[in-house]
Amino acid sequence: MEIILAEQAGFCWGVKRAIEIAIAASQKSSNTLYVLGHLIHNEAVVQKLDNIGIKVIEHWSVAEPGSTVLITAHGLDYRIIRQAKEKGFQVIDTTCPIIQKVHRFTRQFLHEQRQIIIIGNPEHIEVKGIISYADGKAEIVSRIDEIERLNLGRSDKLGVVVQTTFNIPKMQAIIQRLQQQSATTNVMVRNTICPDVMGKQNEVKELAAIVDAVIVVGSKSSSNTTRLFEIAREICEKSYFVSRASELYVVNLHGVEKIAVTGGASTPDWIIDEVLEYLNRLALNQSIFEVKSTTVPLMSPI
Ligand code: SF4
Repeated sequence: MEIILAEQAGFCWGVKRAIEIAIAASQKSSNTLYVLGHLIHNEAVVQKLDNIGIKVIEHWSVAEPGSTVLITAHGLDYRIIRQAKEKGFQVIDTTCPIIQKVHRFTRQFLHEQRQIIIIGNPEHIEVKGIISYADGKAEIVSRIDEIERLNLGRSDKLGVVVQTTFNIPKMQAIIQRLQQQSATTNVMVRNTICPDVMGKQNEVKELAAIVDAVIVVGSKSSSNTTRLFEIAREICEKSYFVSRASELYVVNLHGVEKIAVTGGASTPDWIIDEVLEYLNRLALNQSIFEVKSTTVPLMSPI
């Protein structure tokens, strides 16, 4: 079995940056630190941070008064951050600069009195943060058929931003439809999909076309990892989404000769290595089995 590891698998710089900021803050403090949500979308990393005293909370009101609260790499509703500061918490913001850029574009659209459309998942923390910069006056679209229900034309100017981890072809289809439906409107589109996400999506697309199976490693709560799996599965039927190597034990990889492995932007290297180690062992066992089967002497015809 040939195993191909995607060159871009694993942590993006925004995630690395958030973890480094959090660890540096914990080293400087002997008190518990709090994160408003998961610093990044990977349970194993969240657990490791918890082990060094960085605890997840859902709202600043449950933190020790005056303590330090961290904002996740995905950002947050800015009004919540403001409230926390006003209540005397020390706030450390790890929001990825690429997401901060989406916030600025959204703010600019608001000032230009554009009708704002956010292409993204309304349940995702990043999108909740973005909409706060539109003062809640944006509409969120995640599927092309949702465009019908939009009340377009509330302004003669439209401004579109995109969740940084959105699926590229889906985004393109939604933008095309929006432009068709707003033919007389001035439409400004900011393609805010993250370059790291684009690179990972393009790479998995290419790999999925030349292998027999694809393993996407990461948390199911990670939006960008889920996109990688969706893209891989559209091209390669044998695509699997696992958060740990142990989930592969039940996967039948019999007959697979070429396999690609990739990991989302929030997947740590040590989990990807675990998966590679498992596949390497499997490949070794298969080759031993193949050698054994080819060296078994054929029975001579009687
Ligand atoms: S995927 Fe991109 S936008 Fe998201 S944290 Fe990483 S670098 Fe930032």
